Amino acid sequence: DEVPVLEALQHADVARLLPVPGAESDKYRRGVVGIAAGSARYPGAAVLAVSGALRGGAGAVRYVGPAGDAVIARFPETLVSDQGPKRAGRVQAWVVGPGAGDDAGTVAEVVAADVPVLIDADGLRLADAGAVRARTAPTLMTPHAGEAAALLGVSREEVEGARLESARELAGRYGATVLLKGSTTLVAGADGGAVRVNATGTPWLATAGSGDVLSGLAGSLLAAGLSALDAGSAGAYLHGLAGRVAADGAPMGAHDLAAAVGVVWRDVR
Ligand code: AMP
Ligand code: MG
Repeated sequence: DEVPVLEALQHADVARLLPVPGAESDKYRRGVVGIAAGSARYPGAAVLAVSGALRGGAGAVRYVGPAGDAVIARFPETLVSDQGPKRAGRVQAWVVGPGAGDDAGTVAEVVAADVPVLIDADGLRLADAGAVRARTAPTLMTPHAGEAAALLGVSREEVEGARLESARELAGRYGATVLLKGSTTLVAGADGGAVRVNATGTPWLATAGSGDVLSGLAGSLLAAGLSALDAGSAGAYLHGLAGRVAADGAPMGAHDLAAAVGVVWRDVR
């Protein structure tokens, strides 16, 4: 029998994956997601990543980095720390990179953590490839075509012309699950196998900060216990639909996405 090359998640698949608390749940068992993002220059990336994480089903969101005041002002439920990731306390999954600037030390600390890690944006550029490959806990990398091209040492056009191969190649090189963003999103597992494709999105998602929300959302699903392949593909599915709800045929800002994730979640369940 031929193994399928591409798989599309269906509504019912995503419904089964979404974490729902039960009587035995407490916030720690639901999962704590750590967000290491933002910088003095880009505090908004931290706020947007946290917004996605809060809607992703984890029990608590921890933020480490220089944008704690901005995060707390917008989301008072966030646990904020100005110590590095290593001293942040219990975290079941980390998101590192959105708006992180040149803080390679923080990226290295997160990559060294023995829990699932999502690496996005500046984190992709700053992460040491050998250190990523050496990880034993799951890794989810979330480049857009330009970031994937930089990692592969090819042009953006080459990635756009060979998206499936590019996602698989990166996954193999890094021993990581790779979520390649674009008008459709591909999620390639670390061990080869079928690549998941998501087409729930809308071109209105092509707006600044949109990917930062996805990183928090998928990171939260990782913290809730989903595999990197499931967290990435269910995250992309919800994020795409949330884009449709938030935009509703008109321009939106990335800050509109998080509330729409709640609407979509209810629908999918
Ligand atoms: P980023 O470039 O990191 O801000 O991420 C952009 C997000 O918007 C990703 O989730 C993309 O998949 C999504 N996106 C960008 N352009 C489009 C498009 N033309 N159609 C659908 N989704 C898009
Ligand atoms: Mg981005």
